[in-house]
Amino acid sequence: MSLATEKISLDVEKIRKDFPILKREINGYPLVYFDNAATSQTPQQVIDVIVDYYSNYNANIHRGVHSLSQEATDKYETARRKIQQHFNAANPEEIIFTSGTTHGINLVANGFSALLEAGDEILVSAMEHHSNIVPWQMLCEKTGAVLKVIPMNQEGELIYSSFEELISEKTKVVFLNHVSNALGTINPIKEIIKKAHSVDAAVLIDGAQAAPHIKADVQELDVDFYVVSAHKMCGPTGVGVLYGKKKWLEKLPPYQGGGEMISTVTFEKTTYADLPHKFEAGTPNICGGIAFGAAIDYMNKIGFDKIAAYEKELLDYGTSKLLEIEGMQIYGISRDKTAVISFNIEGLHPYDIGTLVDKMGIAVRTGHHCAQPVMDFYNIPGTIRASFSFYNTKTEIDRFIEAVKKAKAMLS
Ligand SMILES: *Cc1c(COP(=O)(O)O)cnc(C)c1O
Repeated sequence: MSLATEKISLDVEKIRKDFPILKREINGYPLVYFDNAATSQTPQQVIDVIVDYYSNYNANIHRGVHSLSQEATDKYETARRKIQQHFNAANPEEIIFTSGTTHGINLVANGFSALLEAGDEILVSAMEHHSNIVPWQMLCEKTGAVLKVIPMNQEGELIYSSFEELISEKTKVVFLNHVSNALGTINPIKEIIKKAHSVDAAVLIDGAQAAPHIKADVQELDVDFYVVSAHKMCGPTGVGVLYGKKKWLEKLPPYQGGGEMISTVTFEKTTYADLPHKFEAGTPNICGGIAFGAAIDYMNKIGFDKIAAYEKELLDYGTSKLLEIEGMQIYGISRDKTAVISFNIEGLHPYDIGTLVDKMGIAVRTGHHCAQPVMDFYNIPGTIRASFSFYNTKTEIDRFIEAVKKAKAMLS
């Protein structure tokens, strides 16, 4: 066997058995789940961890001396270390548990309101998720900082030369996604981080859409902040992680006040707890954090190289099949992209196609995908987005293509 085929040897039929939901029928058809960019499905291995938590050791953490509390604390902190190792962070204090990507971004944006002055500049990309636009706009309103946008081209790639023109000594923060959720484009974040650091700007990367496909090494990237959500990578909803370099996390003020995040409290003065607890006010999603650790174990056991190679196969197959349909327009054709296909068919509304393929058991997303500026750029109201995961198959793609063709015939 050649090295190339060896890499792709992923036992999909075996993997599919791990996902109970894939046995479901929708409208009388076996479910085809192609909305992985919105949320991924959960393997039994992660579901078992959730059941085990509530069945056997549910307790609040970091507080009680009793055995259950210690057990829960140990498992939670073990999960933090697993996540640290996965992203190769230098130490576990740099891993802050959050409720998800949106929370992580808001935490950082809010922190920067203490560090920015009027006239400072923030760069964001033209292909951001709303959760990576709105918090910065709010920050600009608060501080008088100016938001500048790195433009993209028709292929759905950032225009690097424009980024080089926009960045200057005034730039304090650069924010962009590692992978665009609307288009699948993989951005050249390493070069962008390096360039941003040459003017001492901090860089926050929204890794929500990259994390299910690419194992980011935060030290190798030299990134200042990296945020992810567990629910896009086989974990539960309502939990995520903010990685931050220690020097930055120490500089930023706490986001929320409450229990867990303090060292001492009197009515005169409160001192804050050390990292990571400074940013973890209140009782966290304990079970979710532990399950996130299990999800990362699950994905690593399959292997991110294999996942990426297999998903690339699905992407190439799906793209070529879709392009056989007349009137097909695919948005986002960057050479470097994950298994996301955003498309429209000439003269048809994406919503109508989405509704009809759902009748045939197929789940895709339609709309603006929380990235309205991207839709405005292409001058469209939205797209149909099929996003694949490692548990999808070419047979499912064939069913999808048939369904799209049928829908098209019904609507034309
Ligand atoms: C899903 C997603 C988010 C938001 O994640 P939440 O889990 O909803 O907080 C942000 N950015 C990108 C690129 C995403 O794909």
